[in-house]
Amino acid sequence: MPTPPSLKAYCLCLIVGSPLGALAQEIIDTETHRLEEVAEGIYFAVGNGALYTMSNALIIERDEDVVVVDTHITPAAGRALLDSIRVVTSKPVTTLINSHFHYDHANGVPAFGPDIEIIGHEVTYQKLTGDPANEHTYISSLTRFDNTVNRLEVELDAASSNAERRELQQQLEFWRAHVAAQDEIVFTPPTITLRESMTLYRGGREIQLHFFGRAHTGGDLAIFLPEEKIVFTGDMMLGGVSYMGDGYVSEWADTLQALKQLNFDLVLPGHGPGFRDRSRIDNVQAYYTDLTEEVSRLKALGFSADETASRADLRQHADTLGISQLGANLEAVQRMYNLMDGRIE
Ligand SMILES: [Zn+2]
Repeated sequence: MPTPPSLKAYCLCLIVGSPLGALAQEIIDTETHRLEEVAEGIYFAVGNGALYTMSNALIIERDEDVVVVDTHITPAAGRALLDSIRVVTSKPVTTLINSHFHYDHANGVPAFGPDIEIIGHEVTYQKLTGDPANEHTYISSLTRFDNTVNRLEVELDAASSNAERRELQQQLEFWRAHVAAQDEIVFTPPTITLRESMTLYRGGREIQLHFFGRAHTGGDLAIFLPEEKIVFTGDMMLGGVSYMGDGYVSEWADTLQALKQLNFDLVLPGHGPGFRDRSRIDNVQAYYTDLTEEVSRLKALGFSADETASRADLRQHADTLGISQLGANLEAVQRMYNLMDGRIE
């Protein structure tokens, strides 16, 4: 008896072992991506390591067109995403949504051409029309990638076996390709902005965009599909603690409290695998609240940001977040000091 297509897809899912469990209807492996079909016509796009993508994207097929949330780290990675979209649909991509302004989510935008509509929070617009090339988070990423290439060159020189040399050579080519791809970056701001919320109804799909308050940046959007009960959270909610270098740690727990009011049963984050367990949100909320209290307490005792970063005790989060050592992220603490002292807003 021939296998019906839907059952075949389900079987493939079982064989591949989807981290999303039964809701992932099918896994499609393209040259550069793993596309997890998390609901009919909705694909969670994760780079497979063929080139550096850094962040996740979401592909939402509508009756006549396609909406894409986030575009990876470079135009080259954005083009790879577009090629992967072509594997599942020939419909035109008409609309992009930026979850936030960070380079690793927004710099693939030019791959989608000059006529694309780009929706983002007004803070995302401000950041991308301000001085994005000199944003400290972007600058430090450039340094990090250069350092990686330099380190691999040194290691390759010192390699003692052919196998090791081959492995290092491959890594070096991967990172050199990424560094070269950065030359093509053209920061591209949203063409439409929102401040609180917006809903797209075209093409048989409801797509809600929500700003619930400041968190990972000043303009994080949650992209919510009410019918499918799926939320794409960008970096405001990852599987664990997010990067805090542009964050608002003292406001973050409240923002996540508002996020939890949405009726979703699957969270798709900007990095790492999707998850269903809402207690993960509770866990990071507790962390951001405790970090705020601990940093305020140590600051009031007169400690510098450096001292506070090494003394902060968040080990009560060992079981839930694996924080077993004394200390907190220095960049986060410095930013919290700057915010508390009114040096930044
Ligand atoms: Zn980010």
